[in-house]
Amino acid sequence: MEPTKNSILIVEDDFLSIRALSEILRHDYTIYVEKKSSRVCDLAKRILPDLILLDIMMPDMSGYEVINELKRGEETSDIPVIFVTGMTNSEDEAKGLACGAVDYINKPFKESVVRMRVQHQIKIVNLIRKLQNLSTTDELTGVGNRRYFLTSVQHEWERAKREQTPMGVMMLDLDYFKKLNDTYGHITGDEVLVHVAQTIKSGLKRATDKIARWGGEEFAIIQPNTTFAGVRKIAEDIRIAVEKSRFPMEGQDPISLTTSIGVHCVTPNPDDEYTADDLIAAADRALYRAKQMGRNRVCYHNEPD
Ligand code: GH3
Ligand code: MG
Ligand code: MG
Ligand code: MG
Repeated sequence: MEPTKNSILIVEDDFLSIRALSEILRHDYTIYVEKKSSRVCDLAKRILPDLILLDIMMPDMSGYEVINELKRGEETSDIPVIFVTGMTNSEDEAKGLACGAVDYINKPFKESVVRMRVQHQIKIVNLIRKLQNLSTTDELTGVGNRRYFLTSVQHEWERAKREQTPMGVMMLDLDYFKKLNDTYGHITGDEVLVHVAQTIKSGLKRATDKIARWGGEEFAIIQPNTTFAGVRKIAEDIRIAVEKSRFPMEGQDPISLTTSIGVHCVTPNPDDEYTADDLIAAADRALYRAKQMGRNRVCYHNEPD
């Protein structure tokens, strides 16, 4: 499969500049063009380009205003911007860089200079993305890691508070996993963990739901903007999916296993002190109860013992 191309948004009102920049870059990148600067932020939010080439002098909003608005937007603040402009004196350049642009290209530009400067920024973008992925991914199972989970819970909790929407957190701990290791060995145990992570992940129906490996043979799930009924349905479905799944073994019966799940779903009250950590702790206590009650079951924080 061809790797997907990085994308570049060209913001420019001058037809000849648009044509020249597109010609230089279209072979290596997916190019978007916007002539109306007042539309840039909405468009950038939608297409999330890897880089923006921004003219300064434009009829509606100036490039300075555009970059300020991009930097204020939650989704767009990290998109690198290169000014490509006819404002060539060094004060202009310093002002552009002070606004947060990563580079500054003077018009008329040279093809080779545009190509190289764009290439440098795209290299940085790709490297940052790779590091972000590495720092948030669990190496064994490929799902999110504990850091990813904690950051996401915090983020979603703040959003749920603002938007007054319910959110669910599930903590899962595989049952009698020590015995599985003792029976089949640690390496097979690891393979089963990879397999179970995929089974759990397949149970999540919305792109906004997130799964992470909390540690060892424990997983955690966040379900933003989901009611108690929705969270309960997914928890039960996942419990059943794990119970039904089989890990094939050569020359032996396939391995089966179960999981216990603790759930908490709540709409945050903007005034009280309840934190994302409290939400996790509540789900964890429910998980403990699920273990005590015999395992392979789902327990809810807000359910009587
Ligand atoms: P239960 O949760 O039902 O009480 O029993 P358990 O045997 O699963 O007990 P517990 O959750 O306390 O222990 C987890 C065991 O899971 C310990 C260890 O043998 C195994 N384990 C933890 N992390 C890994 C891992 O990364 N790979 C493998 N193969 N095994 C792991
Ligand atoms: Mg212009
Ligand atoms: Mg455990
Ligand atoms: Mg366990």
